Amino acid sequence: MLFSSAAEGLVVVDGNGVICLLNPRMTELFGYSGNDLLGKPIEALVPSAKRGHHTHLREGYIRTPHKRPMGMGLDLMGERKDGSTFPVEVSLNHFVIGKDRYVMGLVTDVTQRREAELQLQRTNDELEDRVEQRTAELKEAEKSVREALEAEKELNALKSRFVSMASHEFRTPLSTIMSSVDLIARYSEGPQHEKIERHVAKIRSKVRELTAMLNDFLSLDKLEQGMVRCNPCEVDVVHLCIELVEELRSLTKPGQEVDYDHFGDERTLFQDQQMLNHVLSNLIQNAIKYTPEGKRIHLSTTLTNGMLEIRIVDEGIGIPLEDQQHLFERFFRASNAFTVQGTGLGLNIVRKYLDLMGGTIGFTSEPGKGSTFTATLPQHHHHEDHPAH
Ligand code: ADP
Repeated sequence: MLFSSAAEGLVVVDGNGVICLLNPRMTELFGYSGNDLLGKPIEALVPSAKRGHHTHLREGYIRTPHKRPMGMGLDLMGERKDGSTFPVEVSLNHFVIGKDRYVMGLVTDVTQRREAELQLQRTNDELEDRVEQRTAELKEAEKSVREALEAEKELNALKSRFVSMASHEFRTPLSTIMSSVDLIARYSEGPQHEKIERHVAKIRSKVRELTAMLNDFLSLDKLEQGMVRCNPCEVDVVHLCIELVEELRSLTKPGQEVDYDHFGDERTLFQDQQMLNHVLSNLIQNAIKYTPEGKRIHLSTTLTNGMLEIRIVDEGIGIPLEDQQHLFERFFRASNAFTVQGTGLGLNIVRKYLDLMGGTIGFTSEPGKGSTFTATLPQHHHHEDHPAH
């Protein structure tokens, strides 16, 4: 029953390769009917091109028989009665009855499996192709990103070179303009005298603004290239502040007052004088710029416990709350500052200088009422605290 109902084809051949027993499935697989195959050589089921070879192999097998699959690793084919072929898998076994040797073959039609394998292979190939294609695309993308980055770097280098070149080269003509303007002021007499004076003053102030801007660009460029070093020396902070307040008084608006107090027994620092001067001057100038006419600006310095605290209090326009967190960013200007000339670089530079001096800066501000900027720095700059920036 097993033999006749098996889903695989079963065939038994004798020592000469003649079919002596087979199940219905075997007959059906090869397109025969009834007992057509009985007594035929097994080679009838092998495609004609392979028949000779098969006979040879079969004779070898019958001499040293053992249980094994047939044609391992080969694509075996069977041939139907009508001459068409199909892929098969065959496993061989043998037995002996009396003196006669028999070989039993188990034949499976693997058309579907082969097709599935082919399909799988095709899918795999396709996938590989696609991976290859995507990898190529990725490489291409990476290349263009890298190129863009290179271009960007080059552009950046070019920009900063241009900025420093321009800032540098513009300062010379500006200083010539300034001295000529001074001369014009000196030579102007007669009825138009006042008008000329007014315009001369305007030119002076604009040239000063331009110079200040260029100086900011230059300072920032140098700072960002790490070319600025702290160069400490003995500084009399009170002397410095008095001179500075005196100098900046020329920038005040009508009715504006700048006053100065110092607290503490000492007044001598060991710090970079230029940086300190820049920080103070910038903070005072901001206070003047962002404070209306008639209001007071108060500067104070306190030297205690090895620390200098600089405090500038104004009664100006203040800083909108939502802008406060960005105040020290490069080019940032608060939304209420646009009627006032500026670049948004000053505070950024101030903070960088303070950083180099080992100090910090902060502020509090009430929009519409005024601001207080507070900078703190050590009285004695220690080189080892801030190795080469
Ligand atoms: P600039 O004055 O050239 O715009 P700064 O970096 O010095 O640049 O200042 C950045 C911004 O901070 C200013 O544009 C202004 O909005 C705000 N700010 C600075 N100081 C004051 C101040 N004393 N009062 C009000 N706003 C200020």
